[in-house]
Amino acid sequence: MEIKSLKISVAGIRGIYPSQINPEIAFKFGVAFGNFLKEKNIFVGRDTRISGDVLKSSLISGILASGKNVIDLGIVPTPTVEFIVEKNENCGGAIITASHNPSSYNGIKLLSPEGTFLNEREKNRFISFFSKNQKIKKRPGSLTEKTDSFLLHADAIFKNVNVELIKKFNFKVVVDPCQGVGALYSEKFLKEMGCQVTVINRSPLGKFSHNPEPLPQNLKELAEKVKETKSDIGFAQDPDGDRLAIVSENGEPLSEEYSLLIALDHILSKEKGSVVVNLSTNSAVEKVCEKYGVEVFRTKIGEVNVVEKMKKTGSVIGGEGNGGIIWPKVHYGRDSFVAMALILESMAERKKKISEIVKEFPPFFLLKKKIAFTGTETSLFKKLEKFYRGNKLIKIDGIKILKKEGWIHVRISGTEPVLRIFIEGKDKKTAENLYREVLGVIRQD
Ligand code: MG
Repeated sequence: MEIKSLKISVAGIRGIYPSQINPEIAFKFGVAFGNFLKEKNIFVGRDTRISGDVLKSSLISGILASGKNVIDLGIVPTPTVEFIVEKNENCGGAIITASHNPSSYNGIKLLSPEGTFLNEREKNRFISFFSKNQKIKKRPGSLTEKTDSFLLHADAIFKNVNVELIKKFNFKVVVDPCQGVGALYSEKFLKEMGCQVTVINRSPLGKFSHNPEPLPQNLKELAEKVKETKSDIGFAQDPDGDRLAIVSENGEPLSEEYSLLIALDHILSKEKGSVVVNLSTNSAVEKVCEKYGVEVFRTKIGEVNVVEKMKKTGSVIGGEGNGGIIWPKVHYGRDSFVAMALILESMAERKKKISEIVKEFPPFFLLKKKIAFTGTETSLFKKLEKFYRGNKLIKIDGIKILKKEGWIHVRISGTEPVLRIFIEGKDKKTAENLYREVLGVIRQD
């Protein structure tokens, strides 16, 4: 079955267009998803990829053929679709996007009626359902459009931050949406908060000018522009607008780990409550939470895992160290627009530059590596368990090895055919030594 060549995880379904993901598959996904959900209406959005229209039309046709109604939201951020589904009754959602993957990729993210990605259990149920439930109903659903979804999403953010205070500072901001959805919405969004905005990499939509993952090494152009325009901050969004990275006023690209740290320190300074992050997020999180006397919970990688734990523990903020901030006051999903608003509000309330805010966090260095991987999970983990048997091991998602000088987290990626190795040490040298050590173990015969 074609579905096997696609990369399927809690982050969604991704592949190269049209060899792996194409209109026929999108149609079948539509039919299956329509039959799978009990809810009558499905909101559909897409990012800016050029294969987006054909895949979205096919997915919509499939959903309509299953007898369900579709509300087409057009090109909108992933968090906007999540927000709309969460706030409406009797609906589900789907987004055509491959997030930060290169432009040759596309994919489908499916949303449960709660406005969150399908969890592991729901996803497995859907995959086994997919091939058996291609039933086309006698009575098709209807298609309507909704063009104000981002406005509703932005309004909910503005209701929850102090826009009047932020406006007083007239922050100079450069934003790099990498020709993704932010190209359509970020300038206006930031202007509503009184910012003077410069946008780079706005067009042509969907043709990414650089590697679209919001990581320091991909933000050189943004850093230059921040310096050139003497701006207060630079924001980089990934193509579907759920992740955010920052460039400081000095033109220094910061680790994407700081986006969540700044947001959570800011929220906790006003409201005490527990925090949820994934296993790979930096350990400065624990230190910030200690300062406020609140608890931290760590989950498997994947937005839905963090969200489910946040709901269970009633946490006030959470997210992933990859630049994904989840603030339940707006909705339960990673959101670069929420992140931008909270970071600006933090700068305004503290009357501090972004570099000064970042300096206050305890030092840490995170190495994030990915290497091609052909072996089996079982033999790999056996080698690691044997070598690191004297250390505390956490095995809820790959293996996380806790050492005195830092930690090592090794897992097989859910979105790409690689092994992800995350390492934290107090500085670069410590992290690199740990990397050399673990690489030696992985490469043992
Ligand atoms: Mg994304």
